[in-house]
Amino acid sequence: MKLAIDQERLNSEIEALAAFSDADAPAVTRVVFTAKDMEARAWVKVRCEEAGLLVRQDAIGNTFVRWTGSDPTLPVVGTGSHIDAIPNAGKYDGVVGVLGGLEAIRALQQAGFRPRHSIELLIFTAEEPTRFGIGCLGSRLLSGTLSADAARKLTDNDGASVEEVRRKAGMTGELEQVKLPTAYYKAFVELHIEQGPILEREHVPLGVVERIAAPASLRVTVEGAGGHAGAVLMTERKDALCAAAELILTLEQAARTSGSIDTVATVGICDVFPGAVNSIPAKVRISVDIRDTSLARRDGVVRALEEACHSISAKRQVTVHSEWLNSDAPAESDPAIVATLRHACEKHGFRFLLMTSRAYHDSLFISRVAPVAMLFIPCRNGYSHRPDEFASPDDIARGTLVLAETLAMLAE
Ligand SMILES: [Zn+2]
Repeated sequence: MKLAIDQERLNSEIEALAAFSDADAPAVTRVVFTAKDMEARAWVKVRCEEAGLLVRQDAIGNTFVRWTGSDPTLPVVGTGSHIDAIPNAGKYDGVVGVLGGLEAIRALQQAGFRPRHSIELLIFTAEEPTRFGIGCLGSRLLSGTLSADAARKLTDNDGASVEEVRRKAGMTGELEQVKLPTAYYKAFVELHIEQGPILEREHVPLGVVERIAAPASLRVTVEGAGGHAGAVLMTERKDALCAAAELILTLEQAARTSGSIDTVATVGICDVFPGAVNSIPAKVRISVDIRDTSLARRDGVVRALEEACHSISAKRQVTVHSEWLNSDAPAESDPAIVATLRHACEKHGFRFLLMTSRAYHDSLFISRVAPVAMLFIPCRNGYSHRPDEFASPDDIARGTLVLAETLAMLAE
């Protein structure tokens, strides 16, 4: 089989898709189920139909593009990613996996390959949390990580429900039907830009992802006692911000000493009440985001935080209340798919790194119902989610070639 990627066509399609945007070029803003997103979806569907592929859509708008195998009863070999983009983003995040996936299928068709398992490109709905406040809406529903009932309760920034918004966008059927049947996939492989600097720095063109980190997020509220910044003596104070500061440093220490560089913890929001220069902070609310590739290690950091909540509360006579916002489990790639990806790289003489995905992707959720792995390509300076996000046509074509080779090996 002589596989050839049409790099020029793929590149011009990436440029064309970037034009469906609510921001001026080079920025891309494409929020799920807006007019631009709908136009972009329609445009991609036409490209898929031109390749002779079968397009269907589920109730949340996840789009399945099928190249039917010679034995359609076998589980599917899947690939895909997302085309929604956060405000003022770039043109490669997600898109490389969708248009690269399509190009991989076209390259296999052109090479005369005949799959035994059906090969399916999947375009996930709302990987980005922009509209409904939760990332990976489509893949959470596909995997049953999010129930149809819980999805129906989500609303967008204007108060419109998922139900309303999806119906208006023309999605029919019930959300209960989105969950994939058991053993639907034989394998799922997502091609994606790294969104980090490692491949570029190491001058290696490909990354085979062995594990995907996942976040846990909490909101912690500390309540102390307010008062006059001049009149209340230091020994009498129950300063909520000083208590929160101690908590934050304990969290940092727990993450730094977890034993792995994969453990990261961040407090990105700190609201102080009443927030006056001459008033002792009476109440503080902080956000906590803890990520790891090991659930046990991440739980260790959470425990350290909880213990600190107790001890600091006792020591400083403040009340500390923590509330879980989200907790997703990390995922391990399937060893057989990782081996296939490595084999595909080696077959074409491409160097690769075995890596961790520190950002999460739809593949994290698909891993709950299917064997998954991911393939990374470099992006300039590791930039992503910004207008100057860039992946070179050569790197994209290389990733697409390895994806095509891998799909062929898996679908034989
Ligand atoms: Zn993405």
